[in-house]
Amino acid sequence: MLYGGTVTAAKELEAYQADLVSLRVRQSDLEDAAIELLEKSEPLEVALARQRLALDDANAAVADVSGRLADAEAAVDEEIREVASGRSSLLEGLDPDVVEQYVALRRSLGGVGVARLVKSRCDGCHLEIPSAQLEEIRHAPDDEIVNCPECGRILVR
Ligand SMILES: [Zn+2]
Repeated sequence: MLYGGTVTAAKELEAYQADLVSLRVRQSDLEDAAIELLEKSEPLEVALARQRLALDDANAAVADVSGRLADAEAAVDEEIREVASGRSSLLEGLDPDVVEQYVALRRSLGGVGVARLVKSRCDGCHLEIPSAQLEEIRHAPDDEIVNCPECGRILVR
């Protein structure tokens, strides 16, 4: 409109001229702002790329640890199966009444149904066994099952 010759009034032309100058200044300001933002974004993009690499490393480490955990769990599961199988074979050779007593003691005494007799003390409850009862235990036949008079655990002599 400014240069086309369709507007002839001098005031209108001056107004268009002022608008044009103002728009050019505004365009220059916006271009400067865009360049400034680009400059600011460069180090951020570098940092982002570094963080992505660190994330990849962390994900690889998690995958590695997860794999090793799964292997360890499989090994533990296999060991549990072996121990359970060995336990079953051992139980087959024992007197069922003794096994039943052992299972009941184990259940009622925190998972430990058998204890060693160490000198005059039960290694299960750690109490001294009175001397008269200790003599009875010591003189009992080797194949007799004896129990701690304090806690009731089967004593291994
Ligand atoms: Zn005891």
